[in-house]
Amino acid sequence: MVQGVGFRPFIYRIATMNKLTGWVENRNDGVQIKVEGEQVRLEQFLTALKNRAPLASNITSLSVEEEKPEYSSVFEIFESSDISEEITEVSPDIAVCENCLRDMKNQTHRINYPFINCTNCGPRFTIINNLPYDREKTTMAVFPMCELCKGEYSDILDRRFHAQPVACNNCGPHYELIYQGKRIEGIDRITTLVAERIFRGEIVTIKGLGGFFMACNATDTHAVDRLREAKNRDGKPFAVMFSGLEELKKYAEVDSTEQKELLSWRRPIVILKTKKSLAPGISVGFQTIGAMLPYMPFHYLLFEKIKLPAIVLTSGNLSEEPIIIDNNTAEKKLLPVSDALLTYNRDIYNRTDDSVQMVVNRKNRMIRRSRGYVPIPVDLKLDVDGILATGAELVNCFCLGKGTQVFMSQHIGDLKNLETYKFFTQSIMQFEKLFRVQPKILVCDYHPEYLSTKYAKAREGLLIQAQHHHAHIASCMAENGLDEKVIGVSFDGIGLGDDDNIWGGEFLVCDLADYERVTHFEYVPMPGGDKATEEPWRMGVAYLYKTFGSDILKLDLPFLNKIEKRDIELMLQVIDKGINCPLTSSAGRLFDAVAAILNICTHADFHAEAPMRLESIIDENVNEQYNYHIDEVISLTGTIRGIVGDIQSGKPAPVIATKFHNTIISVIFAAVLKIAQKKNISKVVLSGGSFQNRYLSGKIENLLKNNDFQVFTHTKVPCNDGGLALGQLVIAAKRREMKCV
Ligand code: ZN
Ligand code: ZN
Ligand code: FE
Repeated sequence: MVQGVGFRPFIYRIATMNKLTGWVENRNDGVQIKVEGEQVRLEQFLTALKNRAPLASNITSLSVEEEKPEYSSVFEIFESSDISEEITEVSPDIAVCENCLRDMKNQTHRINYPFINCTNCGPRFTIINNLPYDREKTTMAVFPMCELCKGEYSDILDRRFHAQPVACNNCGPHYELIYQGKRIEGIDRITTLVAERIFRGEIVTIKGLGGFFMACNATDTHAVDRLREAKNRDGKPFAVMFSGLEELKKYAEVDSTEQKELLSWRRPIVILKTKKSLAPGISVGFQTIGAMLPYMPFHYLLFEKIKLPAIVLTSGNLSEEPIIIDNNTAEKKLLPVSDALLTYNRDIYNRTDDSVQMVVNRKNRMIRRSRGYVPIPVDLKLDVDGILATGAELVNCFCLGKGTQVFMSQHIGDLKNLETYKFFTQSIMQFEKLFRVQPKILVCDYHPEYLSTKYAKAREGLLIQAQHHHAHIASCMAENGLDEKVIGVSFDGIGLGDDDNIWGGEFLVCDLADYERVTHFEYVPMPGGDKATEEPWRMGVAYLYKTFGSDILKLDLPFLNKIEKRDIELMLQVIDKGINCPLTSSAGRLFDAVAAILNICTHADFHAEAPMRLESIIDENVNEQYNYHIDEVISLTGTIRGIVGDIQSGKPAPVIATKFHNTIISVIFAAVLKIAQKKNISKVVLSGGSFQNRYLSGKIENLLKNNDFQVFTHTKVPCNDGGLALGQLVIAAKRREMKCV
């Protein structure tokens, strides 16, 4: 990554500092540098290149060759206009840097200027609409630079040399605060007003880097509840922005890896263990908090004036719609549900949400890959050129192959929402234009009803369909550089299998091109189909019915007593007759069932709530587990019996939930061991949304490693359906390479 991150000026500085002459040029395949001078200085140059490169730059490989000197007298930056058409590297957005924060207090033309940036920081992907990356091709094009800015922009020794979004109080974009029909300008007044309003419990919608966000006082219970109302009672936990690391550490536990992620220039949301609670409505009963630190100049200005440890900062969207990016829509849709709207007059071109991640076993895990990451490509050894993978439906991300690089889209969302679907199709067009790829192969899921499948089918090109769980494993293989036979454990909510049943608790032996399903959880009916994902009690009934037959009606369980007897009887009839009752081996649905049976979550307010609730009550001191049986398939009848027995004998829910988790860990280990012995494979790949469960993923990874397995997990793309497209893409690429398409 060398584009738009201040790499060439950096080279210039370290070359001239060491009295070296020569040149630097950006090329499609990287940066080429020629330096000549004294040997010691050349070595110092190389050391600086390795150790002091700009934060957001990334050197994947560095090769040094000796050449005859050209006896040049200066060091130059070549414009490289002749090949600029081929450069397809775009930097993600970068959090405001320390130097700019200092300039914001010192530079007379940028005092409290909330759009301050330099070659090392500022907006990138969110404002670009075409390549090569220069101001004319960004939403900064409408702001002509003043003489001062122009001077900095053209001075090779200035921190703002060729910083495309460079601007100041005189020439750049500015904020506007709208409330009660009033429109306020002037950053100092605006910051004071926003701070006061948030402090006293109001909801202020604030335009961020990649979209609008809704903010309120994170210590004000009433304000947080109002915000939830405003967002159509969206049940998901809210993300929180802390004023700084010190404050954050009072409220959450932070280990060194988490701290590094929180402070990185990507400034993601990191899911942390709660130490002390903010308003209860934020974490909706979970013992974790999605925390982040300020990343825009305005965030810093706001925290200077607002004496609060944290504010809620949640996506500005209603229900399942994508985050709103344009000013008019925000005024129309978000202002009516907020007390004030803070906007600015620079357009957002590419929508990006905040990225979400967590740390397990000291490794970073992506949950939502967006701001700060997109559009950094994933480098493969495979030719993926001209392949478009359209991803899943509920948590969509697509990706596009160029050469051996994969450009993963930002988090798109649930395609069933019309606005989100538009975002999906527009982003595909935008990626094709930006990265100059015309797809020849389209790869999608098996599921005929996924809108991403329908989209792929409707486009011209060769169509390939990849099985969902194979794609999950292939995705994890791709990011780990694996191209061989592995044992794949693919656990998630829902994915269509090749027998037309709904899979999700799968043990595969697979390579990139193909898979064999070795074993899986025994099928159970999923009464009502998709309805069962919203109503975990249905899965509870299905599992109990499978285990106890009609004796289920005699079971004295609090959760059954809560549900109308009529409804239960109806459910049993539905299962008997097989009406809208697909069979499923899904791990997600199994977790749903157990959460329901434990009466922790019978109706889900948001995607995967039941498994999350089950995980959240884990007691790490419990080591016991339940019975299970592995034959052709994995039977959990013993587990369900054990759980019911424990409930009836009054065991506390955390003990039961932990015993259940331990059982699943044991099942995975036993099944993998069996497969490994039979097939002589020692590489195990874990993927699928269920591995977002920290306890599960952390424990199974260690257990397998301690038993001499090589374990591969996701770190670059999500293990959930947001990472699926990468797997689809490599499956298609591998099949093309083997000429079997
Ligand atoms: Zn900066
Ligand atoms: Zn200016
Ligand atoms: Fe999945």
